[in-house]
Amino acid sequence: MERIILCMPHLSGKEIDFVKEAFADNWVVPLGPNVDGFEKDLEKFVNSEKSLNPEIHTESELCPPKSVVALSAGTAAVHLALVACGVGPGDEVIVQSFTFCASAHPVSYLGAIPVFVDSEEETWNMDPLLLEKAIEDRILQTGKKPKAIIPVALYGMPYKIEEIMEVARKYNIPVIEDAAEGFGSRYKGRVLGTFGKYGVLSFNGNKMITTSGGGALICGSLKEKKEILFYATQAREGYPYYQHEKIGYNYRMSNICAGIGRGQMTILNEHIAHHKMVQQLYCELLRDVEGITMHISPGIDYDSNFWLCTALLNPDLKIKGQDRVYLSPVKEAVGGAAGLINPAGTTHTDCEPDPNVEALRVALDKANIESRPLWKPMHVQPVYKNNPAYVNGVSVDLFRKGICLPAGPFVGKDEVKYIVETIKSSIC
Ligand SMILES: *Cc1c(COP(=O)(O)O)cnc(C)c1O
Repeated sequence: MERIILCMPHLSGKEIDFVKEAFADNWVVPLGPNVDGFEKDLEKFVNSEKSLNPEIHTESELCPPKSVVALSAGTAAVHLALVACGVGPGDEVIVQSFTFCASAHPVSYLGAIPVFVDSEEETWNMDPLLLEKAIEDRILQTGKKPKAIIPVALYGMPYKIEEIMEVARKYNIPVIEDAAEGFGSRYKGRVLGTFGKYGVLSFNGNKMITTSGGGALICGSLKEKKEILFYATQAREGYPYYQHEKIGYNYRMSNICAGIGRGQMTILNEHIAHHKMVQQLYCELLRDVEGITMHISPGIDYDSNFWLCTALLNPDLKIKGQDRVYLSPVKEAVGGAAGLINPAGTTHTDCEPDPNVEALRVALDKANIESRPLWKPMHVQPVYKNNPAYVNGVSVDLFRKGICLPAGPFVGKDEVKYIVETIKSSIC
């Protein structure tokens, strides 16, 4: 069996036709028919019938259709949403601590300060109660409101969006939904990224769909889309020469990448259904394995795309070889970044996954299966050690106990069975 990767890109076959068209028509630039076409496809998807649930009161009310801007990365989408929210040096932005760094780093790019908020146990995402506590305390400490709130659909699981929006409305703070991992996840039938003022999507190589690299920002209106486009293309003023009155960025998606995206949109629903099937199968096959618990949706309202399937290991569960982990620094890094990382100088950090989790990762790796610890929360990252953080222990506890299992389009029933068998045979 070939190595099983966490989430491997999978092409429909139509991508190449759109890319060829771009070459044939000499649209090899960061704009063009594929960019327009891809944005239309995305708009159709996020505005789809099923996603408009009139029961849910949202910041932009039911005034969709939403507009979508295709960008060079999900990180760029976070960055531009913050710019459009007026975030600048010294401002504070509330960010879910349990996330990938790209939710927080753009706040730092702007000279602003990420303020981290911990998770609740049901969805593993931003705890709405702690969010309100954090806002109150920031106002008390600094005399100023945070400029934005960034909840994250970690591994695809929807956040408690109604509760979060209620707090956001109470304090009149815009919400930027980071749905980079949750493309196609829904809350009460409505697509994530359409509840807040802005919604972030990612099409990096390992996400639900790929454009090789890319992202998008869901905006509330055409007017907001135009503002984002302005900042995404170096903020050019309307003169016959380059005239700049604002700082802009070069963040537009290339017409070649957008061609890949148009091909990928034809199989998006298939991908989502596949990830859900894989999650279901893991749950079935691991049901009777004591000490391992799959993370499941807390209720029918929370319709996760299960971008990655995740499990928690009970600290009492003994995995073969767990006394011999963390003995030497790892050579490779997570995320296929071998050769790009700073080599680790130590074998341990002061916050790391439990020995049984690391032993399971090593056992799976030996069986040619890629797995990964859960994302290390931002408030325990050395780079953010001095940032304000409102914590309850949930995300660190999950980080210590959790593991991500493969779920992509190349993980079929046989692969899931093989992964589960490998897990079972690595238990003492
Ligand atoms: C992948 C990811 C991003 C950024 O997307 P890129 O396209 O890789 O820049 C942002 N937030 C989260 C939670 C992600 O997982």
